[in-house]
Amino acid sequence: MQGEMEDKCGIVGFHSKDESKDVASLVYYCLYALQHRGQESAGMATFNTNVGLSHHCGMGLITDVFDNDLIQNLPGHMAIGHVRYSTTGQSRLENSQPFVTDFGDGFIAMAHNGDIVNSDELRNELINEGFYFKSDSDSEVICYLLKKEHYDNKKDILDAIEAVCDRLVGSYALTILVDGELYGVRDPMGIKPLAIAKRDDDYILASETVAFDVINAKYVRDVVPGEVVYFKNDEINSHMLESAGKCKLSHCMFEYVYFARPDSTIDGINVYETRVNIGKQLHELYPIDADVVIPVPDSSIPAAIGYSRASGIPYGEGLIKNRYVGRTFIMPTQEERELAVRLKLNPIKDAIKGKKIILIDDSIVRGTTSKQLLDLVKEAEPAEIHFLVGCPPVMAPCYYGVAMATKKELIAANYTVEEIQEQLEIDTLGYITLPALVKAIGMPKENLCLGCLNEEYPTEIPDGLEAETYYKP
Ligand code: AMP
Repeated sequence: MQGEMEDKCGIVGFHSKDESKDVASLVYYCLYALQHRGQESAGMATFNTNVGLSHHCGMGLITDVFDNDLIQNLPGHMAIGHVRYSTTGQSRLENSQPFVTDFGDGFIAMAHNGDIVNSDELRNELINEGFYFKSDSDSEVICYLLKKEHYDNKKDILDAIEAVCDRLVGSYALTILVDGELYGVRDPMGIKPLAIAKRDDDYILASETVAFDVINAKYVRDVVPGEVVYFKNDEINSHMLESAGKCKLSHCMFEYVYFARPDSTIDGINVYETRVNIGKQLHELYPIDADVVIPVPDSSIPAAIGYSRASGIPYGEGLIKNRYVGRTFIMPTQEERELAVRLKLNPIKDAIKGKKIILIDDSIVRGTTSKQLLDLVKEAEPAEIHFLVGCPPVMAPCYYGVAMATKKELIAANYTVEEIQEQLEIDTLGYITLPALVKAIGMPKENLCLGCLNEEYPTEIPDGLEAETYYKP
């Protein structure tokens, strides 16, 4: 079994040199801006020189987990925060983050975005050495490795981080509070995003630049793959891991396709622009004669705009999303699961009836959403449905935290495009191709992780490692 999923989470780190300042409310807003990266749980750890470490985590959205009183009870000029993504796995408070370990001579608090593929092996090693685990989370594994190297083996903190990273196989963007300092770490392949911003004299780390915009912080740069950053002496201090620059860069393509907010810029590439380009590429591949281009809101809006611009076919809203259904919830019966799609999306019947429509979605993973969605659209009686998809067929699981699904569940791993089109009973099914996607992102193919599309994974995958699947209405 895979070490319990950290998956596609959102992380934040905040460093102020003003020891009298409390930064928890600012971290709260940053996490709020990253809510799309995880809705299952949220948490924050803060450090104040007099009070020491404070910590609060809870299940649910950021607004469910924190209120004003709780924020007031998190004093400190340093803080880290986390929003956790939901999968079909166990949803437990113990797995919420930041993970905090507090012992005689020190503490470590850590927020992790990513997935460590060898975490089972590392966990067993630590258990044999006497470590007792409270959660299934990879961050607990990383925390204890760091404790061992820094506090038990008395390594300098940077050497300790180096030694820990040397053992980790997989993806990790980390914010760490240790010894009253904030550290940010990005894995040498750069699978997960992490960026740095400045606000007056304060430094902020976050998974996406939207977290900076909300508190009016100025983006400085991305953390370089394989870099450890910290903020002593009023500046960004940098330590490059031994492995930095020695392995293939592997930025996750799915951040651009679906996961990140369109108003974020990751590794110098604007997500919105990429999605508009995806729409343009879809038009080059499938120049279809139609009356209207309709997005599946919200993630496919830029791609539909791109298709519309390239083709001259009007862009039109045809599906309205209920903005209050964002949160995953348990739907035990099939009837309820079907109802959930209707609750989330509703067609504007007059905008669809009798029209030749190009419907654009960001991706098909298991195919269940598309089936239900197309049933809804068909009820509005379009003349033709041309369904275009902004991600090539997802053929294989992700082991680095996207929680795509297992191979058994992935529709494209089990059926040809023609068969899927038949199942969906539509006039066209057109996926973007891999070269067209790479072109839309505008990054060399070698710098992207495309493992879920072509099974070329950037690390070894241990035998028997199970993939996660996500849960969503
Ligand atoms: P399905 O094909 O039923 O698995 O659903 C695919 C849709 O779910 C896509 O259009 C995305 O909007 C969304 N999606 C894709 N991947 C994920 C993921 N890893 N977690 C949550 N939602 C996702």
